[in-house]
Amino acid sequence: MDDYALVLNAGSSSLKFCAYRRPSGATWGLEARGGIDGIGTSPRLTAKNEAGTTLADDALDASVRDARGALDRLAGWLRGRYGGARVLGVGHRVVHGGPAYARPCVVTAEVLEDLRKLVPLAPLHQPHNLAAIDAVSALLPGVPQVACFDTSFHRGHAAVADLVPLPQAVRDRGVQRYGFHGLSYEYIASVLPEVAPAVADGRVIVAHLGSGASLCALRARKSVDSTLGFTALDGLCMGTRPGSLDPGVILHLFQTMGLSAADVEAMLYRQSGLLGISGISNDMRALLGNPAPAARLAIDYFVYQAAKQIGALAAVLGGVDALVFTAGIGERSAEIRGRICEASSWLGLTIDPEANAKHATRISTAASRVSAWMIPTNEELMIARHMGALLGTAGRT
Ligand code: ADP
Repeated sequence: MDDYALVLNAGSSSLKFCAYRRPSGATWGLEARGGIDGIGTSPRLTAKNEAGTTLADDALDASVRDARGALDRLAGWLRGRYGGARVLGVGHRVVHGGPAYARPCVVTAEVLEDLRKLVPLAPLHQPHNLAAIDAVSALLPGVPQVACFDTSFHRGHAAVADLVPLPQAVRDRGVQRYGFHGLSYEYIASVLPEVAPAVADGRVIVAHLGSGASLCALRARKSVDSTLGFTALDGLCMGTRPGSLDPGVILHLFQTMGLSAADVEAMLYRQSGLLGISGISNDMRALLGNPAPAARLAIDYFVYQAAKQIGALAAVLGGVDALVFTAGIGERSAEIRGRICEASSWLGLTIDPEANAKHATRISTAASRVSAWMIPTNEELMIARHMGALLGTAGRT
């Protein structure tokens, strides 16, 4: 019987998955990747194989409202296609591992209890990640599950980089900078020696620009600092989150504008950033196609903040050897990459407009002192690798 391993990345309205298969005696390969989008509104299951051939593209009925419902449907689809498969393990992306989880781990009741305490630190993501773990426990009892954290990759920072300069009593309650998108950065760090060997072990700034966005400063492929902090609100402007904000603004919202904590939370996580500035959309592609001045302003602010914080991380690293773009915007928008590179030309970076327009891997000129790269991220593969190492199911991954 063939062996299977599943990777799940559960969000508020989507459940992304990868299914890896190991035919008996062979090595692991990617069998299918896809997900259920539109959970709670108009759910749709899509899946492709490694060659990009569509395996499923089906509208689901609106009763799929949460992770459990989505997982039921996904399990049904997997059973229909791979009936009788033996699932050796399920790996999950979990956004917050707090100070304790510096590496992935096998999920136990104690681990789950610890992770639930971190929900207030990542209210947009953590509940959905944990709901997927609960749903797998109910559907596949006895199958080991592995939690991989977006915070772990950043756990080796110097104390000064992770400090939140508030009184000790507050810091004793876990208030420190954690950093996120760690699985993405870890994947990029893992492929740098192959993709960009000349700079891999140097000073590299990685820009993960998706719905959530952050920068990571790497020295010798280890995270030294990152723009996301205690929560996933800090740093760069994001789709619906503001990025760096004067804390006095939050006081003003409470004291002068009379907003409740729930109002402020909704504003910070769901109504700000590109959506808040433009009043049009949180989606970069939609803004790039819209000539309205408010859409232009949102894009200008996104680029301005990215360039400004690249400068800050360049100072942390004492110079830069390479800049890497990844995630939805970083991989697909030549315009945004080009604008950020131009704003960073003072570092010694010269973009190659043709290579950039073609989404080539190297997008800077041969003569550029600082090189620039576009490297697609693969958080699911990173999770599969960790699961393989922990459960002894490692193979081709
Ligand atoms: P997440 O996984 O965090 O939901 P992604 O990494 O998929 O996010 O990135 C989503 C973002 O990428 C959206 O803002 C989307 O508009 C943007 N994006 C996707 N394709 C393009 C494109 N061709 N040009 C510009 N932006 C794009």
